Amino acid sequence: MKKGNEIFCNKCGKKRKVQNEIPVEDFVSVQKTWGFFSDKDGVAHEFDLCEECYDEFVRQFCIPVEETEVKEML
Ligand SMILES: [Zn+2]
Repeated sequence: MKKGNEIFCNKCGKKRKVQNEIPVEDFVSVQKTWGFFSDKDGVAHEFDLCEECYDEFVRQFCIPVEETEVKEML
């Protein structure tokens, strides 16, 4: 959940750590606008997860997340 410049994990409520106004933690941000073939047609959902909650979430997947190495970080 974003509040001003702050990001909170929707699952555990933790606030993203910031040092000297620079984020020192990476969070996952999910944005989804549901379409016609859903029960939520036209509804937008948004949430953020800290790395620990993300790891816990994807551990439940029956097909693991795809992982590739990114050589150049922008
Ligand atoms: Zn969390």
